[in-house]
Amino acid sequence: MMTGPRIITVANQKGGVGKTTTAINLATALAAIGERVLIVDLDPQGNASTGLGIDRRDRSVSSYDVLTGKMMLEDAAVPTAVPGLSIVPSTLDLLGVEMEIAGAPDRVLRLRNAVRASSQRAANFSYVLIDCPPSLNLLTLNSMAAADSVLVPLQCEFFALEGLSQLLETVDQVRNSINPDLVIQGIVMTMYDGRNNLANQVVEDVRSYMGEKVYETIIPRNVRVSEAPSHGKPAILYDLKCSGSQAYLQLASEVIRQERKLRAA
Ligand code: ADP
Ligand code: MG
Repeated sequence: MMTGPRIITVANQKGGVGKTTTAINLATALAAIGERVLIVDLDPQGNASTGLGIDRRDRSVSSYDVLTGKMMLEDAAVPTAVPGLSIVPSTLDLLGVEMEIAGAPDRVLRLRNAVRASSQRAANFSYVLIDCPPSLNLLTLNSMAAADSVLVPLQCEFFALEGLSQLLETVDQVRNSINPDLVIQGIVMTMYDGRNNLANQVVEDVRSYMGEKVYETIIPRNVRVSEAPSHGKPAILYDLKCSGSQAYLQLASEVIRQERKLRAA
């Protein structure tokens, strides 16, 4: 029997592929369905925090405090405007955390240990989504060590597959060392533009390479999705009806279906 939250890290070492957008909107969609969701912002840039309306001045607690062992995960979580969705914000302190913990024997296990020590681990949240920086650095490794699974956003562009093998290799390494149960949750194609023939070719290539791991849902390129963060809102709150929001709701229902299957197994 599975207990506690499902911990999913949203990772891809490429920047600008839709990690943060996916973390925010998938989390919001899951919360809208009634799940209790926590986002952990592990990117020093703090885009997930800003995109959820958490002002830099209001970040007295952060994922930095969790990684350095100063604070329990649930104590660093702050509520967002989305009912059922909290976030552990990130601050620029995270930039220094690699250097700070690089010499510690448990440097890759900081987040995992914090999650395990968390008193309400089982009761509080049904999903924890981790938003990673665009790098396979110590922060991303911490997320993979702590997670049950990895969700990979891939942009529908010519170089989509480039770098994927390196990412999958890293997942393998984490699985073979510190986290044997880590799996690929799924691959979600983002910023799809149907007018672009290349985009269709890319989706086809990724499907033939990764098979069933690729979600049926494809996230379209949608200007409303890109506008939302500047209003401090997930696209789903900013414009529920837009194609991007609808796609993220559909992605959430795919994830829930996946989880039901897993839990029944
Ligand atoms: P990452 O976290 O991987 O760096 P982001 O989620 O921040 O990527 O997305 C990169 C940029 O693309 C952001 O400006 C974001 O608003 C925009 N973007 C992401 N997804 C979409 C989409 N489906 N349609 C339009 N713009 C998008
Ligand atoms: Mg990001």
